[in-house]
Amino acid sequence: MTDTKSRTAIVTGASRGIGAAVAERLASDGLNVIVNYAGSEKAAAAVVDKIEAAGGKAITAKADVSDAEAVRRMFDAAETAFGGVDVLVNNAGIMKLAKIADSDDALFDAHIAVNLKGTFNTLREAADRLQSGGAIVNFSTSVVGTKLETYGVYTATKAAIETLTGILSKELRGRNITVNAVAPGPTATDLFLDGKPPELIDRFAKIVPLERLGEPRDIANAVSFLAGPDGAWVNGQTLRANGGLV
Ligand code: NAP
Repeated sequence: MTDTKSRTAIVTGASRGIGAAVAERLASDGLNVIVNYAGSEKAAAAVVDKIEAAGGKAITAKADVSDAEAVRRMFDAAETAFGGVDVLVNNAGIMKLAKIADSDDALFDAHIAVNLKGTFNTLREAADRLQSGGAIVNFSTSVVGTKLETYGVYTATKAAIETLTGILSKELRGRNITVNAVAPGPTATDLFLDGKPPELIDRFAKIVPLERLGEPRDIANAVSFLAGPDGAWVNGQTLRANGGLV
């Protein structure tokens, strides 16, 4: 895709799972990529190596997205390396499941810090710094639609992200920047698979009309569309990429 060449994307939480697939896909679309991570330095470096081996350009950037100062420094590093930022993919997130009655303050505070404040921190920075023609892709979850037991606190942060998505798309009027969200269904990554017995994983896969779990590349394809020229007229929307779950 020559028309996206030399654009630059920050992908948060790109060391593993969906974020790593998004980083690789955007690099193959021709974008320079900032591979953000919080703790998985080696995994993030491996994503950069893979991108470079395929002929793309990428750097790692350590930043806990819940830390506004660290987010600012990550944007600085992106601008220094590549001259500006065009695309922000707010993929970093955590998920700990518990019924609302059993959710302690630490669980609540961690989700607010990483999922909600983390997304807010990068959106505030991007609202100031993204170049004309840019795109922001936030991450929600299809559980906003299915409303599953034990997903309460996690999904509440994601519902808030859908709201931020719609409102920021209006606040950026005149800037030629789109703001959308993807809402994956169950996708085969650590976040979804960890702690679930095989029977439960199989049950999740069977509930989906296409009768399989999503793969990280399924979600990366949707992000590529929203961040690239084919998605340029889609703005302020949440795209549920879930095989028809809800
Ligand atoms: P994952 O495999 O657990 O990967 C999470 C990524 O986020 C890692 O790269 C991790 O970096 C990073 N991260 C975590 N906390 C961070 C922080 N404070 N600052 C910066 N990076 C941080 O998760 P995933 O399944 O790929 O999920 C990606 C996104 O999709 C999340 O927003 C999630 O809510 C959403 N989602 C996933 C599913 C699913 O079924 N998998 C469904 C719906 C929505 P480190 O490795 O450095 O910790």
